[in-house]
Amino acid sequence: MERILLPIMIQDPSLSGIYKQAEGFYATEPYYLDGPVSERVAVIDFDEKTGAVLPGAKYIKERRRKTGYFVDEENRPIRFRNEYGKFEYRLETRAFNQVSVFATVLRTMAIFEDEEVLGRQLHWSFDSPQLLVIPRAGVWANAYYDRNTHSLQFFYFKDRNTGEWVYSSLSRDIVSHETAHAILDGIAPDLYDAITPQSQALHETIADLTAVIMALKSHNLVLYIIKQNQGDITQSTEFSRIGEQFGRAIKKKRSEDEDTTKPASLRELSEIKSFDKTDHKPHRLSVSLSAALYNLLVQMYEDWWDIETKRAQQENIQSFVKHGRRKHKDPKISGAHEALRTTVDDFSKMVLGALDYLPPGEISFADFGRAMFANQQNLHHFTAVPRDERQRAKKRIDWLIERFEQAGIIDNERTIREMPIVGNPLVKTHFEHKALKELNLDELIQSDWMAYQFANDHRRLLGIPRDIPFEIHPRLAIKKQLFETKDDTKIYQNQIIFKASWEKLEKNVVSVSGFPRSRRIKVGTTLVIDRDSQTIIARLHTDDDSDLEIARTRMITKLQEDKLLRFEDESVGPHGETLQNFVQADQSNEVLHLSGVSRLLHIIDTEEAG
Ligand SMILES: [Zn+2]
Repeated sequence: MERILLPIMIQDPSLSGIYKQAEGFYATEPYYLDGPVSERVAVIDFDEKTGAVLPGAKYIKERRRKTGYFVDEENRPIRFRNEYGKFEYRLETRAFNQVSVFATVLRTMAIFEDEEVLGRQLHWSFDSPQLLVIPRAGVWANAYYDRNTHSLQFFYFKDRNTGEWVYSSLSRDIVSHETAHAILDGIAPDLYDAITPQSQALHETIADLTAVIMALKSHNLVLYIIKQNQGDITQSTEFSRIGEQFGRAIKKKRSEDEDTTKPASLRELSEIKSFDKTDHKPHRLSVSLSAALYNLLVQMYEDWWDIETKRAQQENIQSFVKHGRRKHKDPKISGAHEALRTTVDDFSKMVLGALDYLPPGEISFADFGRAMFANQQNLHHFTAVPRDERQRAKKRIDWLIERFEQAGIIDNERTIREMPIVGNPLVKTHFEHKALKELNLDELIQSDWMAYQFANDHRRLLGIPRDIPFEIHPRLAIKKQLFETKDDTKIYQNQIIFKASWEKLEKNVVSVSGFPRSRRIKVGTTLVIDRDSQTIIARLHTDDDSDLEIARTRMITKLQEDKLLRFEDESVGPHGETLQNFVQADQSNEVLHLSGVSRLLHIIDTEEAG
């Protein structure tokens, strides 16, 4: 493995001048080649005029040196010392754009692969090792992830107010947002074809919150914002505003005296947004969930800030007694730093760490809520974890439920929580089952046949209806780090993620003549197994709320109205390729089935952007 220092943009270029523009990140990959190219990510840069593939940033690795570095078109290292001896980056060069987008993709992946988050290596949903990254895919105010071409495509456009070129591949928010789409597609591939608006919206929320987590992990940005706001992040800040330069550049300044103190952005997550369960607009829906979770993050931070400020004040007293001088200039500020660092770790573990618990198929926000509940419940139950951390897990569950209720995502805690005695039909945690006691779990992981047998013999445990065919997903064996104590002791749990899914028919009451009267959707069950104790950590079934059925009908009606549905051969291009901007529809046996709905999801809802 090679560990090298790569540059990442701190904030959108036009916002520079407030603080440093780029900072370093240590990436660890098996190898690096010109491009940059590594084992799992490859930057392919096309010349805007000719469309030819450009050589890409050159990678220099001198024999005597352990690590290498990238140089620009004139063979100058893109990181150099300026006349004051300070390190700087050649921000204006094409090579910097190629290397910084590469670095931002790897940094985003590292956040998910953290031992305490997913605790495993990521897999792409497509059948090839590398995600292709196109930094300048053409002129358009947008960016997107496309499974069919295994790629992230970043476009550029002219700022409507300044006339300057805006490169979406230089925006850390947008690059980490699109990378999160590719990552989530590998974790929950069923979402790509889901017709439930909340399933689509969940993709958007995870993408936006990943951009927030990236911002919160930027040392320089945190320094700046804590100083600017005296540690208070309850109001709108660079953390809660997604895609600022982009938002500003696409929104025409209505008049010279327009109030620009409220910075424009693509999305603002600090304000709670009302939620309509039957809504069919993924971007609009996603803001309700993202804002609810962003406010949970702020609540977690405020709680830690209190603790860390008190700790800093204590340290000041002790240091004063001992040395006659204080340790922290301002305990509130140093407390804020510590609190933000711990909060972003806890938040990443809670939100991103719950993604492997998601049930397969068409899922809802409540399904995600239950996955986060089950993940925290596991921490709360795991006796090797220190008591105060287990208590904190319980508190985080309470806060999550409060935020979801406040946003109207759930009517009451029974939707998410496993209630005493009555339990919860969709989530059950910490129980034993004889089926597991005698089972060879290594075989269950390795052998598809064995896994199928197990599921078929225990349909009731998994909620699989009798006599219908079902699918077994690849099993994941994870050595998950649950906690690290102050003396750096790491506490691990060996988990197995087992997923089975099947198709369900539902009425298709879409008022379009000739449309099939029923449609098929995918549902399923996730079983999280504790490998060492051979017990079940959690079982989660896909949501069957009837409001979701209404929302699906609205989504299909809208797709039909917008002429975005293409049946059978209409959805294939002249060379047999799948047409990009359409949803494939199939109606064999008079049952409607749609696929590729996610293809319509880009960084901005072109309709909403106006
Ligand atoms: Zn998106």
